[in-house]
Amino acid sequence: MSLGLALVGLTAAVPASRRCDRLFLGGFVHTPAGVRRVGIAVSGGRIAALVESDQVEGWRKATGDVVDLGGAHVYPGFTESHGHLTGYGAALEQVNLHGAASFAEVVERARHAASALPAGAWVMGRGWDQNLWPGGAFPTHQALSRAIPDRPALLRRVDGHAVLLNARALAEAGITAASVDPPGGRILRDGSGAPTGVLVDDAVALAERVIPQPSAADIERRVLLASHHLAEFGITEMHDAGTLRSELAVLRELRRAGRLPIRVYVMLDGSDDSLLAAELPHGPWRSDDGMLTVRAVKLYADGALGSRGAWLSAPYRDDPATRGLEVTPPKRLRDVVARAAMAGFQPCIHAIGDAAVTRVLDIYEHEVGSRSAALRPRVEHAQIVRPADLPRFATLHAIASVQPAHCTSDMPWAPARLGEDRIAWAYRWRSLLAAGARLCLGSDVPVASPDPRLGVWAAVTRRPPEGTPELGWNLPEALTLEEAIAGYTTWAAYAGFEEAQRGTIAEGFAADFTVFDRDLDASAPAAILQAMVLRAVVAGRDSFIAGSPTR
Ligand SMILES: [Zn+2]
Repeated sequence: MSLGLALVGLTAAVPASRRCDRLFLGGFVHTPAGVRRVGIAVSGGRIAALVESDQVEGWRKATGDVVDLGGAHVYPGFTESHGHLTGYGAALEQVNLHGAASFAEVVERARHAASALPAGAWVMGRGWDQNLWPGGAFPTHQALSRAIPDRPALLRRVDGHAVLLNARALAEAGITAASVDPPGGRILRDGSGAPTGVLVDDAVALAERVIPQPSAADIERRVLLASHHLAEFGITEMHDAGTLRSELAVLRELRRAGRLPIRVYVMLDGSDDSLLAAELPHGPWRSDDGMLTVRAVKLYADGALGSRGAWLSAPYRDDPATRGLEVTPPKRLRDVVARAAMAGFQPCIHAIGDAAVTRVLDIYEHEVGSRSAALRPRVEHAQIVRPADLPRFATLHAIASVQPAHCTSDMPWAPARLGEDRIAWAYRWRSLLAAGARLCLGSDVPVASPDPRLGVWAAVTRRPPEGTPELGWNLPEALTLEEAIAGYTTWAAYAGFEEAQRGTIAEGFAADFTVFDRDLDASAPAAILQAMVLRAVVAGRDSFIAGSPTR
């Protein structure tokens, strides 16, 4: 006490004990108190201090690594609140065949990709469309088989309803001239009756069943690939919505070796009883360095709106014969939620249709009950919410985990699915907030791009980046820019029980930063899309620096 008083009035000399590992200078720092021109001293992966200009020299002397941010804007590290890490990695490894103007181009893209794969790995591709080629006929496998003779290849058509196999894949799938078309599917054949390599609809399963399960090495490669891409988008943490047992083992190994480029918040695959039995008894777990957290369980209540799998309380407007799909029996949902809650794990249930949302809230009410404030149960997607359910989110301490870019991608066809009345219940972020619900934001990558600029743009404007239509869709449901950024930072941190550790730039918080070259300025929405990610910092280390190889 007396020592403290004695120091009052002295110049702002830095005590020798306040050394730091890195000092970030020259940035516009987005803090809870507004944008400040302060330095950020980082020590042990945390923010040691926000450094005023008159203290910089003292800190500089005690710092090994001084980073000049050159007037860039430093935001708290963005979190992707709902994505699929290995799924994203797998998608990135697939050959992109979209827009190929000839079959020769398809073959060349596949051949090029094959040369980068480990021996024996399947070449997986997606996006060919024979309507874009001269003649417009379905392809046959011969040119592909010549270009890729030594490993199987499976190239999916743009709509996903047909695949082209090379000779090696046909052989592995056991498809010959003698094969019989399965119910609901077709094996296309040439004049002599030999398979052409194209399988349609339910015949695709003949090939899918022989694709090997990914090895630990495959999973590791995909996790790292996905993580590096996420870092390039400025993402510093991913909430992995349904981690498989094999994936968790790889994540733990990467974390132990200090090789995880971004933080991962694991939602265990709730369909795997052996995984739940292995993890739940230990209780929630967070690694010492905070890079890996295991404290949530993921389940599915229904499907998706585009394929009419979302479970609605009344029939689809454009298909009155269906109300969608309940993909998990309610008894199973209740059982797993009860087990998760008992073990202190956060339940996270995919619910898109309004009937699914009601079902999930009912389950939280009965199975989580008085623990809900402590467990913060999540409704993943919460796309269509009945008015009567809006206040229940706050009552049940439930978080709506939403993906703003789904609103803008779905708007061309969602009104047809739901009809004029119910469309007002869709993507209703403002209504949820007004009813006291907490939100967190994400993309559901690889379903959509994980680029948070697109998410923030969609949340604020509710129109696609191309700018048409000029006015956003049901604009009163839009978020403000501050809310959208909170959805990726402070609110996302809350959704992962990390609001006291990260999501905010303040002393003591994790040194996770997303650095843009400009302010994400709501008064000029285009700035959101034009902003460039210059740097992603996780626990004080650079996960991405624009223009320099970080892998
Ligand atoms: Zn998902």
